[in-house]
Amino acid sequence: MMNFDDRQWRVDELLELVVEEDVRHIVCLPIPRSPTMDTLIWDASVFGNFAVKSAYSVARRVLGFDITINTDCRLLWSRVWSASVPPKVRYFAWRLLWNLLPLKTNLQKRGMEIDGVCVVCNSHAEALGHVFFTCPFSHRVWEIAAPWVICCVEQWSGLEDFWMRIVAKAVSVGQLDIFLVLLWSL
Ligand SMILES: [Zn+2]
Repeated sequence: MMNFDDRQWRVDELLELVVEEDVRHIVCLPIPRSPTMDTLIWDASVFGNFAVKSAYSVARRVLGFDITINTDCRLLWSRVWSASVPPKVRYFAWRLLWNLLPLKTNLQKRGMEIDGVCVVCNSHAEALGHVFFTCPFSHRVWEIAAPWVICCVEQWSGLEDFWMRIVAKAVSVGQLDIFLVLLWSL
């Protein structure tokens, strides 16, 4: 696909192999003066060598997850992971905080053709905030067991900010363990 005499790409051959958009990028690549052996280069790492860590970052980026975990996030995780609760509750909390539970709205995002209605109240979308905090049943549980949660829910301004504030509040009132176990039991 390279013509080393005039150092030009053979565009007609390229067009038979790849789409036109990619050909436009390829022809911008300089051709060496003499043929050299091909080398595999992993574009996602600084030195071009493959590493699982960088592949994981690429996968997260492709899937639309934010790959940056800031200091506040790390603090949030460390508090949750250090809670005195059974491992299954910690694991559940980890999935909940990343919104990875198979809630109906999440399943719909993955292409499942199901109704997205909450099975408890039958009147709202089965989304994380609703299921665990604002559905009448969940709301009643918090009213009785941990009213401070209601205040945090009323100040909702996005999921990440919400988890930061509610976990910080749970720690400050000494109820992180209770909060996590209640979430797990809902
Ligand atoms: Zn509901």
